[in-house]
Amino acid sequence: MKKEQKQHYDKIARLGCSLCRYLDYGETPCEIHHIRRFGGKRDLCEVIGLCPAHHRGNSSIHGLGRKGFEARYGIDEQTLLDQTLKLL
Ligand SMILES: [Zn+2]
Ligand SMILES: [Zn+2]
Repeated sequence: MKKEQKQHYDKIARLGCSLCRYLDYGETPCEIHHIRRFGGKRDLCEVIGLCPAHHRGNSSIHGLGRKGFEARYGIDEQTLLDQTLKLL
């Protein structure tokens, strides 16, 4: 991993879970989640922080899938990404 990439991920990770922040749960330690676009290659900036429950659990982005996640929380990955990037 390139140095700038690692630094960027570290910054995102320090912000905590983007969904917990949105839901007013406060700062929760998070993992890095990559947002994939159709046909697009992975962009350095297209990552958000998600806590283990919101990342890999039954009510998570990977557990529910994109559509289920959006329906459940009323927010999608892209909006979480926009909010995250504003905080950097
Ligand atoms: Zn969370
Ligand atoms: Zn992920």
